[in-house]
Amino acid sequence: MNEWIVNSRQRCLERGMDPLKIPTPGLKLSAIQLLEEKDKYRDILVVTKYFSEKILSFLSGTPHLIVVSNDTGYLLDNYGDKTMKSMINQLGIKSGIKCDEEFMGTNVVALALQEQKPIQIIGAEHYHTMLENAACYCVPFHFTNYHNLSGAISIMTSVEHHNHTYLALLANMVDSIERELSLRLTNHNQNLIQQLVVDNMRNGIIMTDERGIITEFNAYAEKITGRNRLSVTGTPVFPFEHFGSYFYQALKYRKQCENIELTFRYSLDQENVCLFDVLPILNERGELLGAFAQFRDITERVILEKQIINSEKFSAIGKMAAGLAHEIRNPLTSIIGFFQLLQRSNDQQKFQNYVGLINIELQSMKQLVSDFVVMAKPSTPERRAIDMKELLKDTIRFMNSQAILKNTSITAIYDDELTIAMIDPSQIKQVLVNLLQNAIESIEKNGFIQLCTELDTDNQEFKIIIEDNGVGMTKEELDQILNPFFTTKENGVGLGLSICYRIIENHKGYMTATSRKGFGTRFEVTLPLV
Ligand code: ADP
Ligand code: MG
Repeated sequence: MNEWIVNSRQRCLERGMDPLKIPTPGLKLSAIQLLEEKDKYRDILVVTKYFSEKILSFLSGTPHLIVVSNDTGYLLDNYGDKTMKSMINQLGIKSGIKCDEEFMGTNVVALALQEQKPIQIIGAEHYHTMLENAACYCVPFHFTNYHNLSGAISIMTSVEHHNHTYLALLANMVDSIERELSLRLTNHNQNLIQQLVVDNMRNGIIMTDERGIITEFNAYAEKITGRNRLSVTGTPVFPFEHFGSYFYQALKYRKQCENIELTFRYSLDQENVCLFDVLPILNERGELLGAFAQFRDITERVILEKQIINSEKFSAIGKMAAGLAHEIRNPLTSIIGFFQLLQRSNDQQKFQNYVGLINIELQSMKQLVSDFVVMAKPSTPERRAIDMKELLKDTIRFMNSQAILKNTSITAIYDDELTIAMIDPSQIKQVLVNLLQNAIESIEKNGFIQLCTELDTDNQEFKIIIEDNGVGMTKEELDQILNPFFTTKENGVGLGLSICYRIIENHKGYMTATSRKGFGTRFEVTLPLV
């Protein structure tokens, strides 16, 4: 007989226990306490039940009972066949009682917990003669990986079914339970983390299986679609108006989509803008498992962009208005001044003088206003077939007198292939005059201005290049030349290039400029041939 059993029987004897009496449990959990304790061991009990049922089904036909107890020996649950249960019940052994040595005598649960070893007590090894027909096996457990819970699992059967392998079977079962529990825990934790991440993302997540049935639909997806997770999980994703078709493509053709801009509108002034990605989920063998989609919220960015565009627009309008006011105030002040002089003057000669000066100022105001109108909304070009060489020669002739004043020459190199182009001659002439005018003004004296043309038959367009060796511009200046009223000249208005830009734009062409401070400037105007 095992020494622990011998010692236990000795202790029972010393306590004066009567081996012929029916052992009666002394301590018992109340119904509530039992419930609480069972709740603490809930997962262990679930897993144990699962394994127990398997074992019991192997052993069917023979009476066996599997009992789970907590760390202090209270029985929490038992599984087994009815006859075995009722027999044990008659002995008062049921869930809630404590299997301690003091009341129950020598028993496996108390000993296994006390010694922390697998213990078997067969038949007459029990202290009480009542139990001499029972064969009991018990293995203690301590799940450090699972809330540090400990306790014991036992099998009871009748002596004739005694089998040494039961202890090994129980030890195995405890191992399996431990593995299962720690897997469950890891899984549970992973699920918790995953759910936490998925739910708290500022991004929407929708996942489906390979048939397009929704399996995952996070909080953000609920928000943008206005649909409830529970109501859509398990239903097909395809009917969703905004993105159903993309899922279809991902699942049917394994097509991946990225950065699709979707706008979900809730009311007139409330909308969400998202970038949407969807991709098929494939396993390592390339088999389709489902689809994964995410929505990245860019509403704030879009709102911000709109605000910036608006504020830039307003500031451009504001600058233009300020510039116009400034330009008009100058001639207006002169006119008022001359007018006052005129009122006081009786001299016919002076009268004529002032009227003449007022007329000049009024003319310049008229020019300013018409420039401004062209700049703001130039009339649509009336395009005709124009001999470009003639037009350019004409313009240079017109500007030459000004250039000569600065001892500057304008030379031209014409691409002979460039003959006819469809343009509005007066508007393009205005562009060339403005550009040549700027070039001349950039030169103090003894300058050099060159005009070239280049035909690009491939693209059906041509270039007019005007280059000077004048004062040039800094990068900051160059960046501003298209702003209406930007000027570095004392008497400049700053509308010339804005007008050029508008006219060229209306011709579906474009203009670029490069410049180096102190070296000169080059403007390139590109226009379509037809
Ligand atoms: P304005 O000639 O009345 O100043 P523009 O719109 O024609 O107005 O030109 C704006 C500004 O661009 C000029 O004041 C000048 O600073 C710069 N600019 C334009 N063309 C040239 C050039 N060829 N060389 C140097 N600076 C230039
Ligand atoms: Mg100018």
